[in-house]
Amino acid sequence: MKAISLLGSTGSIGTQTLDIVAQSPDRFRIVGMAAGRNVDLFAQQIRQFRPQIVAICDESKLSDLRSAIADLDPQPIILAGESGVVEVAKYGDAEAVVTGIVGCAGLLPTIAAIQAGKDIALANKETLIAGGPVVLPLVQKHNVKLFPADSEHSAIFQCLQGVPVGGLRKIILTASGGSFRDWDVEQLANVTVADALKHPNWSMGRKITVDSATLMNKGLEVIEAHYLFGVGYDDIEIVIHPQSIIHSLIELQDTSVLAQLGWADMRLPLLYALSYPDRIPTAWERLDLVKAGSLTFRAPDHQKYPCMRLAYAAGRAGGCLPAVLNAANEQAVALFLEEKIRFLDIPRLIEDTCDRYPSNRQTPSLEDIIAADQWARQDVLTASQTLSQREYFLAKP
Ligand code: MG
Repeated sequence: MKAISLLGSTGSIGTQTLDIVAQSPDRFRIVGMAAGRNVDLFAQQIRQFRPQIVAICDESKLSDLRSAIADLDPQPIILAGESGVVEVAKYGDAEAVVTGIVGCAGLLPTIAAIQAGKDIALANKETLIAGGPVVLPLVQKHNVKLFPADSEHSAIFQCLQGVPVGGLRKIILTASGGSFRDWDVEQLANVTVADALKHPNWSMGRKITVDSATLMNKGLEVIEAHYLFGVGYDDIEIVIHPQSIIHSLIELQDTSVLAQLGWADMRLPLLYALSYPDRIPTAWERLDLVKAGSLTFRAPDHQKYPCMRLAYAAGRAGGCLPAVLNAANEQAVALFLEEKIRFLDIPRLIEDTCDRYPSNRQTPSLEDIIAADQWARQDVLTASQTLSQREYFLAKP
């Protein structure tokens, strides 16, 4: 029986993780859970999984949560705020922590879990992208494991089982192409939030669905792969694979290529991150190659999707630059979702902010990374305001 804690339980990753736990109650039990602000769903989950400790990140929802589960006996420890989420991350006898919090907010709880000696099922790529220079030495120091729960990195991790040290030559990340893969670059100027949120293959949260539409998601995954597998940026490639059946590939020194295949279902990488090295039987739909039909591939269009180039550049610069890129992207995507900027403003804002970042340190501290993250958010906000003023001026001469 594996004891796990779950950060971000009401989100897309969280609910799918609980689906796995509910299907295998003899293998997994939940020690702690943290959620953002969805009290109704969170209370229902607490009732079903009976964790020992819970935290709601939005402190204004604490009293609602208390009354929603007042009849539970015994009562879990109930906390609130970011510090409450950190407490859940490091609490008790959980062996592994699933990090399903969106964005850089997952960084501090993940670090707390590592310091408490817990393995990490990494479903929050921003943690590693922004915090890589700090997180990786901690993983070594505390001798914990970082299991990728991102479908591409899980695929690479699965393919690597049995590959000897030095055997890996290249990583090939597959990308669905996102919501606009069949649109012309000219059409992208006027896309709406609703258009961007229609992902062709995967059911995911809003932020990552927009990241898939800009292909920043794939750019971020390049940096994630670099940190997870220690492969240089020249040896990480992206290929567009519209069917999302092959979740990624590795090329070995002798040119042999290995791939992992499956339907587009996040539960599989999540399950493997929790069950490794075991393979747990499931009743999920088997992959039917005949039903899948053809698997096709094409080169990524860097003109249409500048975010990939920005991510490679930030990754190669290293230090705080990936944190700046990630924070600028989070802020720009938030502004797009609030309909304050246009779709094509997202890469423009990110590029300008990365260019303006004044002082990159190669071996930053956690404080340096947090400062870089906050600087980048503010920089994008400021830049977006002049952007909208300029637009207003143009629209009303
Ligand atoms: Mg992915």
